[in-house]
Amino acid sequence: SKRLGGVNFHRYQPAMNQITEKQMTLQSDLYRALERNQFSVVYQPKVCMSTGYIVGAECLLRWKHDSLGMISPAIFIPLAESSGLIEPIGEWVLSMACHQSQFWRKEGLPPFLMSVNLSGRQLQRNTLATKVKNIIEIAGICPDQLELEITETFLMQDIDSSLQLFNEIKALGVRLAIDDFGTGYSSLSYLNRLPVNTLKIDRSFIKDLPESKEKVGLVKNMIQMSHDLDMSVVAEGVETREQLDTLKHLHCDEIQGYFYSPPVSAEQFRTLLVNQPLP
Ligand code: C2E
Ligand code: CA
Ligand code: CA
Ligand code: CA
Repeated sequence: SKRLGGVNFHRYQPAMNQITEKQMTLQSDLYRALERNQFSVVYQPKVCMSTGYIVGAECLLRWKHDSLGMISPAIFIPLAESSGLIEPIGEWVLSMACHQSQFWRKEGLPPFLMSVNLSGRQLQRNTLATKVKNIIEIAGICPDQLELEITETFLMQDIDSSLQLFNEIKALGVRLAIDDFGTGYSSLSYLNRLPVNTLKIDRSFIKDLPESKEKVGLVKNMIQMSHDLDMSVVAEGVETREQLDTLKHLHCDEIQGYFYSPPVSAEQFRTLLVNQPLP
């Protein structure tokens, strides 16, 4: 009988089926996305506050599904994580970023730091450092041109294994950044145990600047404490001149966000880089 859910059955059941089917289809399509060349990467500039120059790029993954079009990483990254696909996909992104970086370097473009996101799932493998080392060597980049971004939420789940892995990555000469800082309820002094170079303040703190005096105070403290711990600070999601001015006043080191540029293709990033006036 189809009367299981009473009146609500007819109203909600079809919708629930649709969601599940859609997710299952996406998951199986994700399996084939790599071999079908549906992935690409874009680069978002990080700009130095004091000089105005591009000093870094964050490499971000894009998936163009053949019938559904562009799918947000917010949707497919969790699917890739739960299925384990994030490992091959994550290695593909890292390899793309390193090869692109080396390509531009050989072209004689100004040097900058390339950042790549790592998922918590990738960090749970004890082979990660070896994989990173191999990818760097194949691409031929200097390890200090690469930075790996790891979210604060993940770090706080297992600080001891994070510490070991961070030390291994650090030993390769690769830089480390804490992503989405402020969302994971950790204290900065706790982070002092980790060999971290950069702290990225989450957009949720930036978006209410300068109106929210509370957020101004929090960001000010985050920057101050990061500097005390010898970490460089990047503000994420900077969209307005007012936010930029506030961050400059608070001595933030770098900004990333739509105010300067959204994530762009490799060709567009190259154009941004070469069109900068010489120092
Ligand atoms: P994230 O690492 O925090 O990356 C920053 C996100 O903020 C990007 O979204 C970027 O496009 C967006 N963004 C940058 N500036 C602004 C701004 O001014 N305003 C607003 N509203 N947004 C801005 P995107 O590319 O959709 O990526 C979302 C998330 O997906 C990333 O957040 C990251 O957690 C994950 N992700 C993306 N690529 C990868 C990847 O290759 N590997 C892994 N593990 N995760 C990835
Ligand atoms: Ca990131
Ligand atoms: Ca972030
Ligand atoms: Ca984020």
